[in-house]
Amino acid sequence: MKTRIAEVISLGDELVSGQRLDTNSQWISQQLNELGVPTAFHSTVGDNFEQSLQVFETAVQRADIVVTTGGLGPTADDLTREIIARVARVTLERDPEVVSHIRQMYSRRKVQMPESNLVQADFPAGATVIHNPEGTAPGIDFIFSPDHEHSRECRVFSLPGVPAEMKQMWLLHVKPALKELLGSPAVIMHRTLHIFGEGESKIESMLPDLVRRGKDPTTGITASAATITLRVSTAGANETECQQKIEPVLQTITQTLGDLVFGADGQTLADVVIDLLKKRGQTVAVVDAGLHGEVASALAMADHDRTALRNAILPASNLFSTNPETAEKSDSNIQSQSMSLLGWAKRVRQENEADFGIAIGPVDRDPAMIESGKSVFRVLIACPETGGQSSVSEKEYVFRGHSSWRQQRAVKQVLNQLRLFLNQRD
Ligand code: AMP
Ligand code: MG
Repeated sequence: MKTRIAEVISLGDELVSGQRLDTNSQWISQQLNELGVPTAFHSTVGDNFEQSLQVFETAVQRADIVVTTGGLGPTADDLTREIIARVARVTLERDPEVVSHIRQMYSRRKVQMPESNLVQADFPAGATVIHNPEGTAPGIDFIFSPDHEHSRECRVFSLPGVPAEMKQMWLLHVKPALKELLGSPAVIMHRTLHIFGEGESKIESMLPDLVRRGKDPTTGITASAATITLRVSTAGANETECQQKIEPVLQTITQTLGDLVFGADGQTLADVVIDLLKKRGQTVAVVDAGLHGEVASALAMADHDRTALRNAILPASNLFSTNPETAEKSDSNIQSQSMSLLGWAKRVRQENEADFGIAIGPVDRDPAMIESGKSVFRVLIACPETGGQSSVSEKEYVFRGHSSWRQQRAVKQVLNQLRLFLNQRD
């Protein structure tokens, strides 16, 4: 099957000047990807005739499918109609049905229609009108063929810039038209595996042959706030065929990476930890002096019926003693005694009758400490001793990395520690 490639063009001065972010291209490319069409180019151009002409000329030569947004309104800076006609070397013709649709839209809104609005009913000869149920600017569906002195066939869909109108017209017209053009009942399947504990390049080197171009299934790797995601994709005649191709790849990955793989298809570390606890009918309580309650917050969000997270407390950091000798005083008020991490973990577990107590020590957030890699925090998880298994998991982490994600990573480190501890105690 021939692979068709797409180009997405966005038109508008507000886009190239940086006043507005081009979100249409992102959405359209995601849609194309779901249909199995890779987007090879994004082009953004201002409302300038010559420059837009260049962009369109180039696109119809190098792509099989071109989707454009913007430039379909009634004003002099709306150039898409004229440009398509020019590139295709055809004239513009006024469509009587569209004329009456535009007139109706105005009379329904009870406003006088400026005659200039009727330019929106002009179409390059041979084009198919893409109906716009919500607005006055219809879209254009045009096939460039070798007749237009183009070496290859290229299908162009031009939609208005208003995101809501664009999306509706995509779903009503463009998507079905593309399905027909692509002509296969093909299923595209994506599965993802989520990994925590090693960096992107280490993971890639552990799976040397997988993340390589030209394979089927293809495997892509992305990183976000220290979570690595492997996305395995394939196309096939039906779901079963896709599954048969994807399963062995998923197995290879999980066998190679072992415990580094924590979940699949959108699961978070908190989801996985909560699932593990619920399956065993176990509970957890958290005492947190360093991470602003975010570990408990992540657990609470994943624990929809609040059966696994018993409680969370956020005492001041000076109540955490670094001296392990400090008493685990059971007779004193929980909030008023300086205790060791072990003391806190045991205490929060007992007081809340939970199976696991997590104690997160203070983090020194002084930028100088962070920069020098000296900002460390300790996490201790305690549970009852059973059958000679360790009742404590204690770890020290360096609080570092870019300020936009080091906190998120720290939270994930704690959740991952609990996950691994739970797995060990199967
Ligand atoms: P237009 O169709 O060019 O008149 O644009 C109408 C509205 O849609 C304006 O508010 C634009 O800022 C918005 N718009 C146009 N193109 C885009 C785009 N690529 N992404 C997001 N918004 C857009
Ligand atoms: Mg515009």
